[in-house]
Amino acid sequence: EKGSSASSNIPKDKLLAGLLDAGFDEGSCLSRYQAVLYRKESPHLPSPYLLERLRKHEALQKKCGPNTELYNKAVEQLKSGQTIESTECNYVVWISYSGLGNRILTLASAFLYSLLTNRVLLIDRGADLADLFCEPFPETSWLLPLDFPVNQFNSFDIKAPQSYGNMLEKKVISNSVDGASMGSLPAYAYLHLAHDYGDFDKLFFCEDDQRVLQKIPWLVLRSDNYFVPSLFLIPTYEEELSQLFPKKDTVFHHLGRYLFHPTNRVWGLITRYYQSYLSKAKERVGIQIRVFDTGIGPFQHVLDQILGCSLKEKLLPGINAQDSVVSTSDVTSKAVIVTSLHSGYFEKIRNMYWEHPTITGEIVGVYQPSHEGYQQTEKQMHNMKAWAEMYLLSLTDELVTSAWSTFGYVAQGLGGLKPWIMFKPENQTAPDPPCRRVMSMEPCFHAPPFYDCKAKRGVDTGALVPHVKHCEDMSWGLKLV
Ligand code: GDP
Repeated sequence: EKGSSASSNIPKDKLLAGLLDAGFDEGSCLSRYQAVLYRKESPHLPSPYLLERLRKHEALQKKCGPNTELYNKAVEQLKSGQTIESTECNYVVWISYSGLGNRILTLASAFLYSLLTNRVLLIDRGADLADLFCEPFPETSWLLPLDFPVNQFNSFDIKAPQSYGNMLEKKVISNSVDGASMGSLPAYAYLHLAHDYGDFDKLFFCEDDQRVLQKIPWLVLRSDNYFVPSLFLIPTYEEELSQLFPKKDTVFHHLGRYLFHPTNRVWGLITRYYQSYLSKAKERVGIQIRVFDTGIGPFQHVLDQILGCSLKEKLLPGINAQDSVVSTSDVTSKAVIVTSLHSGYFEKIRNMYWEHPTITGEIVGVYQPSHEGYQQTEKQMHNMKAWAEMYLLSLTDELVTSAWSTFGYVAQGLGGLKPWIMFKPENQTAPDPPCRRVMSMEPCFHAPPFYDCKAKRGVDTGALVPHVKHCEDMSWGLKLV
């Protein structure tokens, strides 16, 4: 039985096999230690080396975090504009950008990069980050102080002269191996890793460029992509990554569970919903619907695809259209949680199981927490609901997701689930087959580079090593398997 009631004495492994530090105040972030009551135990154990590195990283975040002498010193150096000597504390500043699913994935990517490069991770809180997530590191804060001297984040885009790519292109700095650039490096560089990035920006994923970046104390990063798969292709980090993640398809699963703890307000949304509609069912099925077509729908071809997938893969029972037999079961066998910006698909599925009995006699309850209409990333409650829904999807037993959607990737990764992913419809028709089971629970990197750093020419980066493959839902994307 999965936890249906949250009691205060927690018998299960609330530290998730050592992933979490025991030293946090419980009341200020209930989800951190209560998550275990709602989740199935993960079959994926974090490696002892990952645990060791996380504890070391926590010590670094505390030593160099905001309001420490070392932080103040590093900021003074940043203001002076020059890298003077090698510093004890180096930083990655993550800029809040794009939809919530994208942000969660880039934040996990930035954290892994910080771990690999021994940098402190600080986050631009944007409008709402502090309302969504608890602090992940003990006795310090990951929120970038509001008086941080570099604050023109809005002007950091593909054209920004401070970007690493543009500095390379304009020969302000050099990535040549002889180190000719030493002494003239700036105090910070902006890393433009968003979907529209250019060839020079993409050199971030090359070994020689990583060597240059190591000497720059402050890196300010903007991305809307899960760029982890390409970190696995940089020789510099190969050894370390294989020690951290002996099973390569667990990166987001572990880092996500480590980093992302809903705040008490969001935890209230999650637990109240779970207890009201999901906890009593024998089985929970999640259906995440994200339609990238123009127009609002509901579209018949999308409904056909959802039902086609769910019935074919036996996630939902078929209905008996003729018979009006009353089921003898008195328990909800299946609770289905639908997430979508619109209510149309949910209403059709719910009515189907109201108007007809199932052929198996099972009782199917269909629920949808919200239908927000359209993406409203600047609104606090909107994002809280989005986060709560991703989390609720992650608590299901079987999951159906939509192609291209980071919203679904977050749910599958946190839940340790391999969903059935619905292919993107073309020409207003449901694809055949409508869906397939994914190879791994890892998110897809939608905009990877295709460049061989050594040979200096294009290459299929999805064909270089067995653990980095093209994604099921996007042929040019890359994912860890
Ligand atoms: P993606 O665009 O599907 O990759 O996911 P993102 O999370 O990055 O951006 C989509 C945004 O639209 C979400 O963050 C929400 O703000 C909103 N959104 C999309 N689908 C849903 C949904 O099913 N429920 C809720 N509450 N919001 C959604």
